[in-house]
Amino acid sequence: MTERIVVGAALLDGGRLLAARRSAPAELAGRWELPGGKVEAGETPEAALERELREELGVAAEAGERVPGQWPLRAPFVLQVWTARLLPGSAAPEPLEDHDDLRWLTPAQVWDVPWLEQDVPAVERVLAHLGLG
Ligand code: C5P
Repeated sequence: MTERIVVGAALLDGGRLLAARRSAPAELAGRWELPGGKVEAGETPEAALERELREELGVAAEAGERVPGQWPLRAPFVLQVWTARLLPGSAAPEPLEDHDDLRWLTPAQVWDVPWLEQDVPAVERVLAHLGLG
């Protein structure tokens, strides 16, 4: 089966990382993730990330660099992560779909929330990438 990419955003603002709490599906509800979603056919991962952040959080954001690594999700999906930042003039993030709470976490607070299991190694890599691991 061909691998399908799910992009996750390490959305950063003032040294804090945005975490989003899933409201659905039931088996993921209450757990926290890097916001993002599936890359559609013909879309670059960066464009998918920017689209997902607009749809899910109502923000205008720009993808930055890829955080090295790739983490398996339910086949055929794999999670890849890019840094992202809010563009000047963007609205503040709001949980519009898929999520029911958002938190900006300082490096000291990153492990205060129960991340989805599959996001844990990705978040660890984000911290290492930022020199905070
Ligand atoms: O948000 P969307 O439903 O498009 O995400 C596709 C799949 O990727 C979901 O099954 C979700 O569980 C998974 N995912 C994940 N970690 C993320 C983002 C999405 O496991 N940070």
